[in-house]
Amino acid sequence: MQIFEKKNALINCLSILKQKNKQIGFVPTMGALHNGHLSLVEESNKNNDISVVTIFVNPTQFNKEEDLKKYPKTLENDLKLLKSVQCDIVFIPTVEEIYSTKVVSKTYSFDGIEHQMEGRFRDGHFDGVATIVQAFLEIVKPNRAYFGEKDYQQLQVVKKLAEKENLSVKVIGCPIFRENDGLAMSSRNTRLSENQRNASPLIYQTLKNASNLINTTKIANIYAFVKDEFDNNELLELEYFTIAEQESLQEVSTLQIGKKYRAFIAVNAGNVRLIDNIFLPINK
Ligand code: AMP
Repeated sequence: MQIFEKKNALINCLSILKQKNKQIGFVPTMGALHNGHLSLVEESNKNNDISVVTIFVNPTQFNKEEDLKKYPKTLENDLKLLKSVQCDIVFIPTVEEIYSTKVVSKTYSFDGIEHQMEGRFRDGHFDGVATIVQAFLEIVKPNRAYFGEKDYQQLQVVKKLAEKENLSVKVIGCPIFRENDGLAMSSRNTRLSENQRNASPLIYQTLKNASNLINTTKIANIYAFVKDEFDNNELLELEYFTIAEQESLQEVSTLQIGKKYRAFIAVNAGNVRLIDNIFLPINK
């Protein structure tokens, strides 16, 4: 496994591999890796000759200084894990290497999907995400890039980014990896207290219950059910629950035949923000 800190050295290495017609798969991460991240690397390994992983905590996608400062860093362990899944190349640049002296986002428009859910609660978040993803895609120029459905709105934003900026990469979504009790794996889970961790399976349980109700219950009543679940919980505070069409991410109040829907949730456990989502199987 080769490790690069400088983009020019990485670009040189990749250009030699591309001359040999090697297919390149790319997995961007912010480190503090877990099995969800590793599943993306394994998916990349299946369909590419070379898998490139970036570890970079991108400052421009954080709207709260505290969240950025407290983001867990476990580099030594991350490298061990990446080696264990036969990752070929790891890129670990400094903020300066990527942003030079101007640590700011570009401004994008993604047909409104950036303003829903996470966009409403995390000002400027998707401009930051798109800025860093575009920067990495232009450095790595991969054939395929892998993103988790855990951050489903981010996946849709990146698909739009590739389309709008004419980036020749196939953006591939990968399923959510969960702990045994259903909690979606996340680097932030390590910041939960024992009590918060014990309470947190309610997030996925509530999504599953919403999914079970979708064919029999009015959407307004599903919203009321979810609100109730969290109203009485002292450890978990509901930030939003949204049922949306899964391409446009527009919130809906009724379901239409032939369209596909997902339920999305964000919950605060103290100052740890957790998100999750689920596909809603409609029997119509
Ligand atoms: P992050 O390090 O949180 O920026 O995540 C890097 C990539 O891993 C993103 O594409 C995430 O959607 C994906 N990812 C994070 N957690 C999971 C998970 N539990 N299952 C699948 N993919 C995940």
